[in-house]
Amino acid sequence: MELQSHEQVQLNNLDQDIAAANTKFSGLDYAPVGFFVLRQDFRVLFWNHCLTGWTQLSSQEIVGTDLRQQFPNINQPKYLVRLKQVFQGGFPAIFSPQLHQSVIPSILPNGQRCIQQTTVTAVPAASNQGFYALFAIQDVTNLTNRIQSYQAELRERKRAEAELQRSNAELEQFAYVASHDLREPLRMVTSFTQLLAQRYSNQLDDEANTIINFAVDGAARMQALIDDLLTFSRVGTQGNPFEVVDCKESLNLALSNLQILLQETQADITKAPLPIVMADPAQLVQLFQNLISNALKYRSERPLTVEIGSESQENHWLIWVRDNGIGIKPKYAERIFLIFQRLHTRQQYSGTGIGLAICKKIIERHGGRIWVESAPDQGAIFYFTLPKNNLRSDGGFLLTSLVKEDI
Ligand code: ADP
Repeated sequence: MELQSHEQVQLNNLDQDIAAANTKFSGLDYAPVGFFVLRQDFRVLFWNHCLTGWTQLSSQEIVGTDLRQQFPNINQPKYLVRLKQVFQGGFPAIFSPQLHQSVIPSILPNGQRCIQQTTVTAVPAASNQGFYALFAIQDVTNLTNRIQSYQAELRERKRAEAELQRSNAELEQFAYVASHDLREPLRMVTSFTQLLAQRYSNQLDDEANTIINFAVDGAARMQALIDDLLTFSRVGTQGNPFEVVDCKESLNLALSNLQILLQETQADITKAPLPIVMADPAQLVQLFQNLISNALKYRSERPLTVEIGSESQENHWLIWVRDNGIGIKPKYAERIFLIFQRLHTRQQYSGTGIGLAICKKIIERHGGRIWVESAPDQGAIFYFTLPKNNLRSDGGFLLTSLVKEDI
């Protein structure tokens, strides 16, 4: 179809055109890219060494012949339409490996099919007779293989991530159901052992009373652990949607919840300006409360000081709670964030070892990080980050560069 018009063009003498093309394009002879030049009648005017290597066709064999005889791929209408635009309009064309077969199919030394990216540039033909098509064919086999294996790796990573999320959600659900359903029978055990202790303590000997007391104590501890486990599992399953939260207000709420302890310990609290962020308000209060109550609990002999501060960093806010208490050996810095991990006995300090695990879970739900810097008797600084560019629930961006100075 379109070809007819190409062929009807009055063309110069072939030998002259070949000689002119050789002078013009000889610089491309040894390029590591396949180059050939085509005239409107599909006669090959130039063929470089790289193509000879790929096809075993020397330039003597192919120059002057009609390309379509050796490489019929080019006869497909999708190529012909684009080539007409090159020859007549001077427009460039790109035949990408994703959408096109190779124009010059070739096999690599390892037997693999060469994947080609072909760019066609229009260059003015001799004697102003339209354009020649200068084909540049790049071997993109390695690149394509690398991209494909990278994509496969990415797919596998996404699948593993989805699987991890699914199993985390399942575990969370399990912890929730188990702790929720265990509460009722445990309450029965606790109240009946307490009843037993109250009603029959004067009828039993000392040994029996000690045993009952152990049972009461054990049941009470188990109840505390299960309550904590339930709180922990609720962080992920029953959190509130994020909203604009002024950290100063969350901190003040946490401090007012700890009022009695604060008075008992006579802690000196220093509050630096804190940012406004996107967060679950109740969880932010819980976070501050857990960290500050630990600062109060793990105090030293020194008068207790607790400092809460923040710093703007590139993509997030850095917030810290610093105390001058007993501190932690650096080797325990990660362990203390695990559920039910404690560094002390119940006799030394009360607690179940869940406070920091809850903090970690809250912070991870908000897309941040939490860690501690400390040494024995040197106090502890608990740092956490909160992202600045959390999306609002209505899809808008929140400007989180605000710091409340008026504390
Ligand atoms: P709990 O206080 O119930 O033990 P947490 O998860 O809150 O549970 O803390 C885990 C452990 O981390 C504590 O047992 C304690 O040893 C250590 N810890 C936490 N906060 C501090 C702190 N501010 N100073 C020293 N040690 C701390």
